[in-house]
Amino acid sequence: MPELPEVEFARRQLMRWFKGRHVVRTEADDTRIFRGANRRDFTRIKGRLVNAERRGKYLLLTFEHDRGLLSHLGMTGRYSRSTEKTLPYSRARFFLSDGHIIHYRDPRLFGRMEPVPAQSLPTLPVVASLGVDPWTDPWSAKVLRAALEPTKQAIKVALMDQSRIAGLGNIHAAEALYRARIHPARPPSSLTAREWSTLARAIKTTLTYALKVEQGEEIEYVEEGGENPFLVYGRAKERCGRCGATIESRVQAGRTTHFCPACQV
Ligand SMILES: [Zn+2]
Repeated sequence: MPELPEVEFARRQLMRWFKGRHVVRTEADDTRIFRGANRRDFTRIKGRLVNAERRGKYLLLTFEHDRGLLSHLGMTGRYSRSTEKTLPYSRARFFLSDGHIIHYRDPRLFGRMEPVPAQSLPTLPVVASLGVDPWTDPWSAKVLRAALEPTKQAIKVALMDQSRIAGLGNIHAAEALYRARIHPARPPSSLTAREWSTLARAIKTTLTYALKVEQGEEIEYVEEGGENPFLVYGRAKERCGRCGATIESRVQAGRTTHFCPACQV
């Protein structure tokens, strides 16, 4: 499931693919990814990609002629470049001047595309309500603490609350807490100043590592059936790489959390 690093990777990929080319035409199938937005406005996107920004897990794409596109990859969305007109699960397509086609592919259709005037992208309610982005906004223990300390939710749940911290999901919240040796069920108000610092650093480290994995720099990471590149996520019943205890899983706010009961206190 794409979180901040995977969406950031998609953003960089799109910037590269669109660079020096322009959109000749676009087409989109009638699927629920448009969620009430006007699908015809998507087919009016033409010309250069002026900018691709990311806020949390959202992509904000700006094209010429004040055409904008809000894109969320949902659970299984991704962009692929091809010379083929059809690809499995392709839901929307950009035809480029160099003959390539950029497909938005989404098997389970939990993604979202909302074509809007480019200038209104930052003020869309789903974008305006996002909390601090640990990758693009100024980031420190102080910022993290201010965002999470007021809530009584468990720290893991609070980390995934997009209105507080934008971009972390189930995987990278668990990874960051493992790196910081903080138990996922702790109330944020119980964290010491030192723990806030450690957690702020751990979040950056987790995101940096995940982005490297996406770029294929760390290990060969195959989408399905590949090696698990994570320290704790998806490792229930395995041994903790740090202390040797058995990794546990528990459900928190409907999501399965993985943690080491011995070295995350
Ligand atoms: Zn451990």
